[in-house]
Amino acid sequence: MGGETKRSMVPTTSASYPQLAERPKGKLIHNLYVDRLGQFTDGGQYRAQGLLDKLYDGRLAGDDNVKLHVWSAPGQSRPTFEEATSKKNEYRQTHVGESFGPSWTTHWFRVQFKLPMEWTEKPQVELHWDSNSEAMVWTEDGKPLQGLTGGGERTEWVVPDKWRVPDKEHTLYIEMACNGMFGNPPGDVIQPPEMNRYFQLAMADIVSVNVEARALFYDYWIIGDAAREFPQDSWQEHQALQVCNEIIDCFIAGEGSQTCIKECRRIAKRFLGSEIDSEAVYDNENNGTEPAIVNAIGNCHIDTCWLWPWDETKRKIARSWSNQCDLLDRYPEHRFVASQAQQFKWLEQLYPYAWDRVKEHIKKGNFQTIGGSWVEHDTNLPSGESLVRQFLYGQRFFESRFGERCQTFWLPDTFGYSTQLPQICRLAGMTRFFTQKLSWNNINKFPHTTFNWVSLDGSQVICHMAPCETYTADAHFGDVKRSVTQHKSMDQDATSLLPFGKGDGGGGPTFGMLEKLRRCRGMANTVGLLPKVKVAESVDDFFDRIERKVAERETELVTWYGELYFELHRGTYTTQANNKRNNRKAEVLLHDIEYLATLATIKGDKGYKYPKKEIDFMWEAVLLCQFHDCLPGSVIHMCVDDSNKLYAQVSEKGEKALHGALNALGFDTDKQNAFYQDQYVLLQTLGWQRQPPNRMTVRCQASVEQVADNVFVLENPALAVTVEGGVITSLYDRKARREVVAKGSKANQLVIYDDKPLYWQAWDVEVFHLRSRKELRSSSQTTITSTSPERVSVSTTTKISEKSWIKTTISLSALAGSDEPAMVETEAEVEWHETMKFLKVEFPTTITNTEASYETQFGIIRRPTHYNTSWDMAKFEVCCHKWADLSEHGYGVSVLNESKYGFATAGNVMRLSLLRAPKAPDATADMGRHHIRWAIMPHIGGLDERTVRAGYEFNYPPRVHKHSTPERIQELMGAFKLVPGSDPGLVVDTVKRGEDDEDAGNGDMPPRKGRHVVLRVYDSLGGLCRGYVAFGPVGVKKAWKCNLLEDELEEVKLTDKGLPVELRAFEVASYKLLLE
Ligand SMILES: [Zn+2]
Repeated sequence: MGGETKRSMVPTTSASYPQLAERPKGKLIHNLYVDRLGQFTDGGQYRAQGLLDKLYDGRLAGDDNVKLHVWSAPGQSRPTFEEATSKKNEYRQTHVGESFGPSWTTHWFRVQFKLPMEWTEKPQVELHWDSNSEAMVWTEDGKPLQGLTGGGERTEWVVPDKWRVPDKEHTLYIEMACNGMFGNPPGDVIQPPEMNRYFQLAMADIVSVNVEARALFYDYWIIGDAAREFPQDSWQEHQALQVCNEIIDCFIAGEGSQTCIKECRRIAKRFLGSEIDSEAVYDNENNGTEPAIVNAIGNCHIDTCWLWPWDETKRKIARSWSNQCDLLDRYPEHRFVASQAQQFKWLEQLYPYAWDRVKEHIKKGNFQTIGGSWVEHDTNLPSGESLVRQFLYGQRFFESRFGERCQTFWLPDTFGYSTQLPQICRLAGMTRFFTQKLSWNNINKFPHTTFNWVSLDGSQVICHMAPCETYTADAHFGDVKRSVTQHKSMDQDATSLLPFGKGDGGGGPTFGMLEKLRRCRGMANTVGLLPKVKVAESVDDFFDRIERKVAERETELVTWYGELYFELHRGTYTTQANNKRNNRKAEVLLHDIEYLATLATIKGDKGYKYPKKEIDFMWEAVLLCQFHDCLPGSVIHMCVDDSNKLYAQVSEKGEKALHGALNALGFDTDKQNAFYQDQYVLLQTLGWQRQPPNRMTVRCQASVEQVADNVFVLENPALAVTVEGGVITSLYDRKARREVVAKGSKANQLVIYDDKPLYWQAWDVEVFHLRSRKELRSSSQTTITSTSPERVSVSTTTKISEKSWIKTTISLSALAGSDEPAMVETEAEVEWHETMKFLKVEFPTTITNTEASYETQFGIIRRPTHYNTSWDMAKFEVCCHKWADLSEHGYGVSVLNESKYGFATAGNVMRLSLLRAPKAPDATADMGRHHIRWAIMPHIGGLDERTVRAGYEFNYPPRVHKHSTPERIQELMGAFKLVPGSDPGLVVDTVKRGEDDEDAGNGDMPPRKGRHVVLRVYDSLGGLCRGYVAFGPVGVKKAWKCNLLEDELEEVKLTDKGLPVELRAFEVASYKLLLE
């Protein structure tokens, strides 16, 4: 044996290690000791023996200590503070235990209390108010201080230190709203509200807080989570369990005394570090330690309407944001972001004190504006121009009030994302986009967290979808953990956002959330394993870092091209049909007003003023109604009433503004006449010269003939349509010499489906509804209802059920010229009283293609017509705008609609969605009478500008008015149209006056010298496009390409043909023209 080592043969022991075992000691039985943890802080049978009983060391309750008087506002009124505290209102005595209601009523309480001498030294005194409803604390002189949620949530208001005067009676007011944070649901949150709910005042106490016990509560919570949620193969999990059990043992040994509570905290800090009691816990960011990768940011997702009406939202905003101002004062690290310019505007108008408070914090930088849009809007349904205005109105509001625009588009909760958003964001000054809703997909998991999202035109933004998969996180240990475990873009960048705070009536982040975050960070600093979380300086900061990394090529983000299709809530393309119709009509009306009013300010009567105030009112109303529950139709009936009222105002003001512009242009608006006579002029508001609705002068007339029992043939020179039993059995294209309707099938066939999604009724139509397809058969003989040479029609009534019917009128028109595309139009009148049914109309075609095309904002989106993969299958119901198209080489069929958005193309069958009948959250959704229009337009050749233009013309009513000098006005209406020979894919969509023109601005921003016209032009077909925009008799001095916010980007040299335009595929361009 070589290499001998010298080994002592004498056993050695340390002095203290006993030679003999003292007693048996067992292994800690893991699950039992984990289960034990609940005993210390849950409210069960051991409550009085645990920590909860120690949280307060004093309580003043009862009529002697807290005097309560109440005044109930009449009906569903929501009086202001001044109105509510008016001397003429009689406040009567009340007490804890009394109930108040019914739903949606308001009750004002006068609360009076005195603090005893010894309480002046207590570290923290709070009012605990729980009316099981939302409420707001006001000072005696009318300052709104803080919101309360009720039902055990956010029930505390901290009594200010300056109120700690012994024996002085303090008075405050509490405005109690008879609704919870989700309105008044009868249990199941999406069911229509219960209208007769009463809310019991359960607590009105003044309490002294045991701050050490409260701190221990959060220490223990987070360490307990580590014991439960860390993997069992980590030493940290075992240590967390030991620490928690030690804390319980210590508390028991010390009988819950204040001394032992302090000792328990010392034990906790072994695991959490010593700095968890202040923002100092976040300080070690820059001293060489691992960086914090989880960026917590406070927010409060307030749905502008949903399960409550707009007027309640206005109070939710004041309550929630006041809470945050208070919290920002108490927690220096706290940062809070708020979006939706409309919500800020309401606060500005209704709550001057809260508004000033918010403004002050915005100045300090801890209350941060975000989003850049007017509301957090739907992105499927609004038109391209509406999306533009969301940002134009939003960014202008933020800039005018706070001196800055937003850099991040913030839209956590909308139902799918239009493919043109990245381009529109970039043009609105935003390079980043935050959302998370795709985590709700119920078929495919979206594969990225941080990525480049690319528009139809190639524009990109950095998109981040929070890996915690919520925008209302409670800032739990698990939220921090999931920010890493569910992060799908770690290869590119490991950082993430953690948006925390209670949404809607919950009032945003709570102090408890901030306490938990400090402890999560303390734990990461001390024992590791949990990713390091910090409270982000700002969302912009978070994105700045990634953007820099990308710009400097330190990382290359993966890309996602095209729409972010949401695999859920597909019913929202159809639900609440009238909302959608009102939206489309308002968009059309605003378009025409802006064009004609622009012309009127240039060549109209002297003294005519651009109706900027009316236009702003109308746009702000339309944008408000595009909120992501309103236009999609996922609201209670009260909200539908709200939006109906607003749409009615839009329509009334709009017609007035339109007539004002027409009168200024010399039109006689008293007589509108569809018949074209010498002095009648068709208003040319679209980007091309449309044909006058004058069919009398042409020979290409239409005819109708009954050829057999209940069989009719409608004909014009282009098409022959056979209507049999009310449906189209043949649509023959005479020029193409081909049949359009698939052999043996029926176009214009109405079909009905059973429509019971898994849960979200108004929101969802689920894939299995397709199995219940049932054809509806006509219940009447078809009759000829029009035989004029310019238009022939046949009408058929179809019974849907005992209560519902639909009358369809199929028409064929004469053609003005041989080039005009011919279409078969249908007008339907529906009386609809169904329950959970879905009505659609089908067009089986003779077209073969694996992809169909749909109009989307400023472009076309292509989607599969098959179900090859689960991603294809998921798109069984999609959103389109004015048309959908199925084309093969050389031929195609477009289906136009007037105010519909839901569509499906499966194989060769195109299917337009007409009406749904969900019963929650609005039991009356879509019940009643509807008027619907659609058209089938076959075309020789592929999809091109004929469909794009027909879509516009089908939606823009041809307006004809009398004018004394038709030639002159027609020449003027030639202004801002494309010069012949321009690429037909180009569309001049919007013509408006410059936002800050001296004679046409609203004064929000400093006026600019000169008069400007702004044009929005886009490529509608997807290819490089060139052309010129003519000015007609309008003198233009200078032109610039500008962004959507109308900042000049570069000068464009004018030519004698007008404004030269060159756009890349699907580009949206804005031009600003300085008038002579
Ligand atoms: Zn929402």
